Amino acid sequence: MKALTYLGPGKKELMEKPKPKIEKETDAIVKITKTTICGTDLHILSGDVPTVKEGRILGHEGVGVIEEVGSGVKNFKKGDRVLISCITSCGKCENCKKGLYAHCEDGGWILGHLIDGTQAEYVRIPHADNSLYPIPEGVDEEALVMLSDIFPTGFEIGVLNGKVQPGQTVAIIGAGPVGMAALLTAQFYSPAEIIMVDLDDNRLEVAKKFGATQVVNSSDGKAIEKIMELTDGKGVDVAMEAVGIPATFDICQEIVKPGGYIANIGVHGKSVEFHIEKLWIRNITLTTGLVNTTSTPMLLKTVQSKKLKPEQLITHRFAFADIMKAYEVFGNAAKEKALKVIISND
Ligand SMILES: [Zn+2]
Ligand SMILES: [Zn+2]
Repeated sequence: MKALTYLGPGKKELMEKPKPKIEKETDAIVKITKTTICGTDLHILSGDVPTVKEGRILGHEGVGVIEEVGSGVKNFKKGDRVLISCITSCGKCENCKKGLYAHCEDGGWILGHLIDGTQAEYVRIPHADNSLYPIPEGVDEEALVMLSDIFPTGFEIGVLNGKVQPGQTVAIIGAGPVGMAALLTAQFYSPAEIIMVDLDDNRLEVAKKFGATQVVNSSDGKAIEKIMELTDGKGVDVAMEAVGIPATFDICQEIVKPGGYIANIGVHGKSVEFHIEKLWIRNITLTTGLVNTTSTPMLLKTVQSKKLKPEQLITHRFAFADIMKAYEVFGNAAKEKALKVIISND
């Protein structure tokens, strides 16, 4: 089969790889129909994730059809259409029992990281019963690709960790796909104001269409002053960091109100300066996390009822044979006006 394979920092190739086989009775083999590229894949390609070894098939998002199941898989059979979670979970270990699927003792984020991923014709999914979700009849499968990672991440690590409440003022720093997912799902809780911050005017325009009440272009380095002005000098109840660099984390520290939340979603490669000398007295809460995907069944229902429309994030579509081109477009997101790309294998 063909698969997008990591060949060390800066190197990838669409190449021939052996089709995966059932290794444990709890495995399923899924034929991928649609997949996508995540910012994390770009981090891997820049060499930021050294746990990814050369020869690894990338990708941790997608939908597909069950090709084969191990003898221990009870919930799925050949031909079932499924949503693949970016998090593999056994459902039985101590962390899974606490809903901490991200830290499953025999799973977590392993797809396209420690085991071969979804940017291929077929993928092996361990603990299939707990790591796959049946696709309800009539739901747009492209929309569901956004539920493998982006939407649970924005919702759980941004909105739920930040404890967004009705009438609050929320700022989201970073209008990439995950920041946009946080923007769309924060509206489940009816905050009064959502201020979106980014360097890219095109993304800020899109954010307005998605429900941002105010937008701030931070390229002049004055985001903090602008946000304080927009909030009458009070700051925000919830500041979500959806980039993963010191500058954006700093904005969050400066704009959070007393009693507020800083919800870090960004993947950080460098340390940040945490201003405990200012914040110790302000009763704030700082949260971090890797998505557990425990909200996936709930999000599926909201997509089915059209309350949530994740397909809004899709800007480009490619055939699987053109996945190298898809990487080029996604890697030049600002120039290409790209948010999420769909790669189809049908
Ligand atoms: Zn991802
Ligand atoms: Zn587990």
